[in-house]
Amino acid sequence: MKRTHNPNKSQIHRSYTVEDVALRFGVHKRTVRNWIKKGLAICDDKRPLLILGTELRLFLQQQRKVHKRKCKPSELYCLKCREPRLPEQYTIEFIEETSTKGRVMAACSVCNSLMNKYFKLENLTSIQRDLAVILPLQQKHIG
Ligand SMILES: [Zn+2]
Repeated sequence: MKRTHNPNKSQIHRSYTVEDVALRFGVHKRTVRNWIKKGLAICDDKRPLLILGTELRLFLQQQRKVHKRKCKPSELYCLKCREPRLPEQYTIEFIEETSTKGRVMAACSVCNSLMNKYFKLENLTSIQRDLAVILPLQQKHIG
């Protein structure tokens, strides 16, 4: 999907057929069927397929998020640069926030400001592998 569509064009109290959605968003019916394949929920298997406005809106919102500059696994999003950036290797810190959630903090390799992202602790090893560092997990200091 190259263009993003305004999720609010989907009215939450309505349901739409594939044709309705295609017309409303100015896309091909095939595009709408693609959305269904990609996870847009339909009411049931009956024909014509009906799509709830709420589901459509949700789906488009999610697509929008996916569409937002996506960080590669080796990158963190820098708020200052407004771009995904590689972290400075020696600044990377892994912090245990809760028993299930961790946070990686690092300085942006371009502007040097602090970047961070949350991750599930169970993903720690894969995140460390992606960032090409193996560092001890630090306990968060309370207070
Ligand atoms: Zn930056």
